[in-house]
Amino acid sequence: MTEQIDIASVHGTPVVPGVAYGPAIWPSQRPELIAEAPPLDESVRAAAQDDFIAAAKTVEGRLLARAASATGAAAEVLTANAAMAADRGWIGIAQKSIAAGVPPVQATIAATEQFVTMFTKLGGVMAERVTDLKDIRDRVIAELSGLPEPGIPAPETPSVLCADDLAPADTAGLDATKIIGLVTVLGGPTSHTAIIARQLGIPCIVAVKDLETVQAGTPVLIDGTTGEVISNPDADKAKALVEQSRLERERVSTWVGPGRTADGRPVDVLANVQDGAGARAAALTAADGIGLFRTELCFLGRETEPTVDEQAAIYTEVLEAFAGKKIIVRTLDAGSDKPLKFANHQEEANPALGVRGVRIAWQDMGILDRQLDAIAAAAARTGSSPWVMAPMIATPAEAKRFAEAVRVRGLVPGVMVEVPAAALLADQILEHVEFLSIGTNDLAQYTMAADRMSSELAELTDPWQPAVLALVARTAQAGQAVGKRVGVCGEAAADPLLACVLAGLGVSSLSCAAASVAGVGAKVGSVTMEQCVAAAAAVLATGDPASARKAAALALS
Ligand code: PEP
Ligand code: MG
Repeated sequence: MTEQIDIASVHGTPVVPGVAYGPAIWPSQRPELIAEAPPLDESVRAAAQDDFIAAAKTVEGRLLARAASATGAAAEVLTANAAMAADRGWIGIAQKSIAAGVPPVQATIAATEQFVTMFTKLGGVMAERVTDLKDIRDRVIAELSGLPEPGIPAPETPSVLCADDLAPADTAGLDATKIIGLVTVLGGPTSHTAIIARQLGIPCIVAVKDLETVQAGTPVLIDGTTGEVISNPDADKAKALVEQSRLERERVSTWVGPGRTADGRPVDVLANVQDGAGARAAALTAADGIGLFRTELCFLGRETEPTVDEQAAIYTEVLEAFAGKKIIVRTLDAGSDKPLKFANHQEEANPALGVRGVRIAWQDMGILDRQLDAIAAAAARTGSSPWVMAPMIATPAEAKRFAEAVRVRGLVPGVMVEVPAAALLADQILEHVEFLSIGTNDLAQYTMAADRMSSELAELTDPWQPAVLALVARTAQAGQAVGKRVGVCGEAAADPLLACVLAGLGVSSLSCAAASVAGVGAKVGSVTMEQCVAAAAAVLATGDPASARKAAALALS
C-alpha cells in the first residue's frame, strides 16, 4: 500500500483486514494512581466504605447497561467485566482495608494489585484479564474522585482509535460508524481488541511499536492486511484506497461457496466453533462445514467433569447445525491458556509445555474415553460421522494410541499438528490416522519458542513466519504423498492472503472464525491454484513475515 504514499509510518501485527482513513483519537486519561495517602480518621471509615461500595455499584451498573445495548461477544465481555466490579473477594479485600483506615482510592489500588498478581501468575487467558481488572480499578477510582469515566471519547468525525491496549469495557459497544479502525501498542491476534474489531468488521492492527508518535488529531491511514499505520498520507490517495477496500468487502459479502480457487480446484472453507449457538451462527455463513469444534470451551467454568449424557447433548447441537456436512470435533484441549478444573492440573512451572491437550488422557484415559463415548452417541443420534482429532500430539505412538480409541467407536481419527515434532514426522503419524489439521497458533508458539499470549513477541508468533510455513509445507506434502487430507485450523486460516499461500502449500481445507469465512472463501476464489503455488514458493524463500506478506501479495495480485 505504501509505495505510492511516502510518509512516516509505523508498523504492527495486522489482525483484521480492511483499510481506514481518519483522524487518530486516543482514550481519555486514566486517573492518576496515588498508592500512598494519610490514614482515615476512625469516624469517617464507615462512610468511606459506603462510598467505595456505591462507586463499585455505579461502575457495575454502567457496564451492565452497556452490555444490555450490545450484542454477541461485546455483550459477553461487558457482562463479565460487570461481574468483576461486583466480585465479592475484591470488594471484601478493599472494604477490609478501608475499615483499617486506608482511604477508598488506595484500598481500590491495593485490592486490584493483589488480583493482578494472582492472575498474572496463573498466565494464559487469566493473565489476559489483567487489562480488564485495571480498567475496573480506574473506573471505580474516577467515580470516587468525581472525575469523568475514563475511556473513549465519542468523536463527531469517523476516527481511528489508537491506544496502548483496550479493555473490553472500552471496545464493547463501540459505534463502527464513528470508530472506523483500531490500532494498539499491546495485544495479540487473540486479544479482546482483535475479537471486537472482527465482530464490528473494522480493520485492526495490534502490537504497534512507536504508536505514541501518532498524535491525536493526525490523519492516519491504516491497513489491516499489511499492518501499516501511515500518518498524514495524501488525502486523495488514501480515500481511493479506502474505496477500493470497501468495494472488496462488498464483493466478499456476496461469496456463497463452495470453497475453490478461480480455476475450480477445491479448497474447503470451514468454520471454527465452540458450542451449539456458535455452530448455528456459523451455519448462516457459506462455510462448507466445521473444521474445528473446540470442545473444551464448552466446559471452561466447570468444577466437575460433565457426564457423557451432558456432553452428548452439546455435541448433538453442533452436529445438527451442520447436518450432512463435514465436521471435525477436537477432543478436550485442557491446560495452559484453557485450564479445565476437572482435568486435575498440577501446578506447573511451564503450563504451555506441560500436561495439556492429549497428554491429560495419558494420565487419565477415562476423560478421553467418556468424551469419545459422548461424541459417538451424538453421531448415532444425528446419523452423522464426525471426524475426531486430538490436540497436542507429539509422536507417532501417541497418534496410534488415540486413533485406536477413536476407531473402536466407529469414528474417523485424525490429529492436530501443533508441535514441531509432529510436523517433522507427519509421514509416520499419517500411517495411523486419516487426516491432519495444523494448529498454527500453537505451531508458531512452539516453533518460535515464543508465548502466543505475549504482545511483546507478536512478531515472532506471526503465522507468516517462514519457519512456521516451512513446517506447514512439510506436513501438507506428507498428506499429499499418501492422499490424506491436511487442513489448517489456526488463526492463519482466517487471513485471506495467507489462506491462498496455505492452499498453494498443499493444504486442502481452511478453518477459521465464522466472521472470516466469506473473506477467505472470496479471496481463494479470486486466484488460481497456479498463483497460490507461486505465492507459496515465494513466501518460503523469504526470511521474515513482512517480506513474506509482500512476496505473497505480489504473486497473488
Ligand atoms: C492452534 O493451536 O492453532 C489451534 C487451532 O488450537 P487452539 O488455538 O485452540 O490452541
Ligand atoms: Mg492449539
